[in-house]
Amino acid sequence: MSAIDAARFQADLLAWYDRSARDLPWRIPPDSGRRADPYRVWLSEIMLQQTTVAAVIPYFEGFTQRWPTVEALAQAPEEDVLSAWAGLGYYARARNLIACARAVAAAGGRFPQDEAGLRTLPGIGAYTAAAIAAIAFGEGATVVDGNIERVMARLHAVETPMPQAKAQLRAHAAALTPVRRPGDYAQALMDLGAGICRPRAPACLACPVRTHCDAAGNAPERFPVKAARAPRPARHGIAYWLTHEGDVLLTRRPGKGLLGGMTSFPTSDFLDERPSPVLAQAPGANWRILPVPVEHGFTHFSLTLAIAHADISGRPRPAGLWRSQGELESAGLPTLFKKVARAGLAALKEDA
Ligand code: SF4
Repeated sequence: MSAIDAARFQADLLAWYDRSARDLPWRIPPDSGRRADPYRVWLSEIMLQQTTVAAVIPYFEGFTQRWPTVEALAQAPEEDVLSAWAGLGYYARARNLIACARAVAAAGGRFPQDEAGLRTLPGIGAYTAAAIAAIAFGEGATVVDGNIERVMARLHAVETPMPQAKAQLRAHAAALTPVRRPGDYAQALMDLGAGICRPRAPACLACPVRTHCDAAGNAPERFPVKAARAPRPARHGIAYWLTHEGDVLLTRRPGKGLLGGMTSFPTSDFLDERPSPVLAQAPGANWRILPVPVEHGFTHFSLTLAIAHADISGRPRPAGLWRSQGELESAGLPTLFKKVARAGLAALKEDA
């Protein structure tokens, strides 16, 4: 592992960024002397957690058209924000987004201007605080996410496996962080990680910092070295498709926990074993399992949902969010329950 000349590294990376920066709706052009709007930087960084740029752009544009300032977002009803977020996943982010917008609005509509102050806000962890501090406020904060860890591991050919290597990679990132143009530098590293130093098939020949890199031409895909992974546990559950005179019963999930506050089909708990189909709101309903189980991967487990169908037309219907089948696509369902809606509709159409 060789030491990198930080000044030369920064100059090479920034010169490339000046030529090749991605044009993204939350960015300002490189070296423009202007600062990006903290609200837009914050919103984009929260949306980008665990989510691709391509998936985020339409959501970012929708949010900023509808709620152009942090005060406007703070005043929005929670259901509207959660519905607008539907499909983007990791819904705790949306609930924290509302809490954070309200905290900032209550403090006069201005975000704290440094990393430490930003970290006190709901949903803002070390990475996001550093990114906002660097990009919106020009603080020389060290920004480290999974992409930047990968770049650092390759530049220094770090043989320590993850996650033990994290502190080492952060120290490498800190040693390279500039005082001048820290926001452009952070975004340049993000672009490098996304487009050149990709997880698979890194484009070393096109890389602006290859002369600084210990892994170039030396099996770069090996880095960061991964520890052996335990398999994700499998869980099972039931989504209830209860119909009444052509309408389908939906519900709003409890505010805390998995997919908290989101619109969904009623479900059983998600268990290690397959649960049996009983829905307390519809005693005596004649449940039938549709032949279209839905598979979905969460971070900590994989889920198989059976869809249980029963029709209670002609009987009193329980209270709940009843929607016609045609309204399911626009009901603000998160991805898991969109899959249920599509699978259930297809299976019932086959039956008809
Ligand atoms: S030379 Fe290759 S491995 Fe090294 S930083 Fe560039 S793309 Fe990544």
